[in-house]
Amino acid sequence: MCSDERVGTEMSVRLLVATATDVGRVRPGNEDAFLVTDDVRLIAVADGMGGHQAGEVASATAISALLDCVNRGDAIGDAITAANEAVLTRAAEDQALRGMGTTMTAGVVADGALRIGHVGDSRAYLLRDGALRQLTTDHSVIAELIAAGELTEAEALVDPRRAMITRALGIDGAIAVDVFSVELAPGDRLLLCSDGLTTMIRDDVIAGLLAGEADRDSAAEALVAAANAAGGADNITVVVADVVVADVVTDGPDDGAEVAAAGPSGTPAMPTASAPAAPPDPGPDPDPVAVPFADRGPVADPDEEPPPDTDAPGTETAADVDAHAEAASPSRRWWQRRPRA
Ligand code: MG
Repeated sequence: MCSDERVGTEMSVRLLVATATDVGRVRPGNEDAFLVTDDVRLIAVADGMGGHQAGEVASATAISALLDCVNRGDAIGDAITAANEAVLTRAAEDQALRGMGTTMTAGVVADGALRIGHVGDSRAYLLRDGALRQLTTDHSVIAELIAAGELTEAEALVDPRRAMITRALGIDGAIAVDVFSVELAPGDRLLLCSDGLTTMIRDDVIAGLLAGEADRDSAAEALVAAANAAGGADNITVVVADVVVADVVTDGPDDGAEVAAAGPSGTPAMPTASAPAAPPDPGPDPDPVAVPFADRGPVADPDEEPPPDTDAPGTETAADVDAHAEAASPSRRWWQRRPRA
């Protein structure tokens, strides 16, 4: 899907990684999570959704399952499928977690390429020779309408449906994972990020910050700062990875492993890669972030097709959109985040 003829598949490369996560300026807690393994072969971002801090549990559960599966040799697509099952299982065990979900965008470096697995509206980008390319396709209502020529980019910026995603882990036992490879070249810079970055600043701003900050830690911090300066309406998480030839010596102690479920302060916990952070206990806070678009029925019974809830706010609009996509994707499910400020 995304290959580049200039790069030989035999090139041996590795990643040097910087990360940053922040609660933003509006949300009471950080439901994003990210992963960078000790060997820096696996990187991932997950953006959780759910009431009573269940989103934090969803993203942390998915990241933990992803790591376990990749460590035992699973392909990235299979690992994300297993992460979906882990989120569903966790939700079925605890009524307070019912309906939680998470995005997942992950990459594994092997044979000179990044093998990407993707569900939801977190994103992977590649900066090469100063040009930024979005590698993933958003699984969102807006992205599908733009692709269909029914909405312009400018219209999308103010469309109330921009908060709706069409795929997430934890919604259904059957999950469609986008899986593809991107060949890497030394000098490339990769970015994985949650939508708290991309809904706040445009791609040209992201490109400028990535290209303008040679130091990847500075680039990561600059991206988060820019999203906050633009309003910080959501949690912001970025993983900035520089591609170098494999025998380059690591350039600092910060290039080791991180597995983090972002905490309420925006400062990630830093356990070892083999023991990722336990999901935080659900607290008493009111649902600050997400509401299910419609009652989907028991999470443990993913085959059950819920009737449309015609009383739910926004249902008419969503039903119209669903009709567009139903023919192309009959297994499609709905999830709606609370519209961003
Ligand atoms: Mg988000």
